[in-house]
Amino acid sequence: MQRTDYHTHTPLCLHAEGEPEQFVARALELGMLTYGIADHAPMPPEMEPYDNWRMRCADAPAYREWIARARAAADSRLHILTGLECDWLPGIESWVRHLRHEFGCDYLIGSVHYLRRGESVDDSVYANRTITDSTERDWQLYWQAVTDMINSGLFDIVGHIDLVKIWGRVPQGDLSRYYTPALDALERSGTAVEINTAGWHKHCAEQYPACGLLRELLDRRIPIVINSDAHSPAHLSRGWRQAIDLLQELTGHALQQREIPAAHNPHTILHAYGSL
Ligand SMILES: [Zn+2]
Ligand SMILES: [Zn+2]
Repeated sequence: MQRTDYHTHTPLCLHAEGEPEQFVARALELGMLTYGIADHAPMPPEMEPYDNWRMRCADAPAYREWIARARAAADSRLHILTGLECDWLPGIESWVRHLRHEFGCDYLIGSVHYLRRGESVDDSVYANRTITDSTERDWQLYWQAVTDMINSGLFDIVGHIDLVKIWGRVPQGDLSRYYTPALDALERSGTAVEINTAGWHKHCAEQYPACGLLRELLDRRIPIVINSDAHSPAHLSRGWRQAIDLLQELTGHALQQREIPAAHNPHTILHAYGSL
């Protein structure tokens, strides 16, 4: 199995650390095939400053420079891909198209962090309280946004697909009532979903997506990639082996890795997992 990581950050998002050469050195040490850089994308200039955990539009040259340094350090020993982790918001579509073109992205990760402006589900102010008046309503709004994001047809990988569980609040009963429309949208779009191993180190102490959802993704043959969401060189590709073991378990050891074109960029090959 080839080791890849498509979801990693840079210090331009203001809450990550490390130099490109350090990330590359770690990737080589781990024997990785691909190191994909996908920092938090800027919001449209008229919305800036949106929050304090993303690059600004003015950082675009610095981001290109960061990736160029990574490429120079890697030489031909490692594939370096240019990505972005874009926030999904209603009405953001033309900006996302602009970002893909502007940065020459090999792929885009689409993530829902915000239910509404200023209300990011992973903000620690929600550690002990819901965003709306109930966990059920938070989940409804969150999954509606994920479904709309997939249906936009703009993204190649869905980031931390069930982030809404981060503080451990999960509605009772069968959760498929929330996510079945998203699964249907994934089947139609060819978009891949990441196992985001950073979830093991968050309050929820569980990878994104949860096992029940991951099993459904595998059953529907949705491509799965393994990503660390690293914010430092030490966390690059963290948990990759455990994620492989989990996939082996869920597929009854019928796991295989396959090369697939990114849903919206046929020139980009993603190393994805599925069952035989
Ligand atoms: Zn994210
Ligand atoms: Zn991230």
